[in-house]
Amino acid sequence: MAAVLNFIEEKAEAVRAALAAAVRAHRRVTYANSLGAEAMVLTDIIWTHVPEIEIFSIDTGRLHQETYDLMERLQWRYRRTLRLVHPDAAALERLTGERGVNGFYHSLDARLACCQVRKIEPFKRAVAGFGAWVTGVRREQSAARARAEALEWDAQHGLYKVSPLLEWSEAEVWQYIRNRKLPYNVLHDRQYPSIGCAPCTRAIQPAESRRAGRWWWEQPESRECGLHPRTGHAAAEA
Ligand code: SF4
Repeated sequence: MAAVLNFIEEKAEAVRAALAAAVRAHRRVTYANSLGAEAMVLTDIIWTHVPEIEIFSIDTGRLHQETYDLMERLQWRYRRTLRLVHPDAAALERLTGERGVNGFYHSLDARLACCQVRKIEPFKRAVAGFGAWVTGVRREQSAARARAEALEWDAQHGLYKVSPLLEWSEAEVWQYIRNRKLPYNVLHDRQYPSIGCAPCTRAIQPAESRRAGRWWWEQPESRECGLHPRTGHAAAEA
């Protein structure tokens, strides 16, 4: 057990060092906090050890109540206020006026339009002016993420992207959370390994992949992300 603890601590120390190096190299660094399990690790490390990094989350307006409850618990634990970035009100009114309140179920085009207004545009606004942004992606999460680099130029957004958890396993993330008794989204205990907006996330069955509960009505190849794009796609994922 002590060996496991030491191993996780060594990995956490490497994350702290990578984040501190990012601040030295890029000065203004922000963390796009997805509020998933990986985010609990990064929030703990940043707010405890590298507070120069600003943290924000995108409140799409369609999150689970459990996610809002988690924000509150994080703020209490760390005595910090989480910066929330919201969709542009006029763009949101246009979207729901043209597509309907749940238009994202009707076509891929409509879903991407919703993600554009509720996630992608607020994200672009949130990272504007920063030298680098931090993400909690891990290699084992998807084939696209397996090819990621710990430090990459994000040409789409015009700043560097830092991924300090790339080599972490899911078990290591949860070990860190348990070791420190960190808050986490209670939906994880109800078979939601990946949590986004409430209408676009469901629980998974034991045999399904961990991302099977995201946009489950679409073809798997359309489920990647505008924030972590791959060639030819401008979808959104968190
Ligand atoms: S995940 Fe669903 S509700 Fe959230 S922004 Fe995308 S389409 Fe809209």
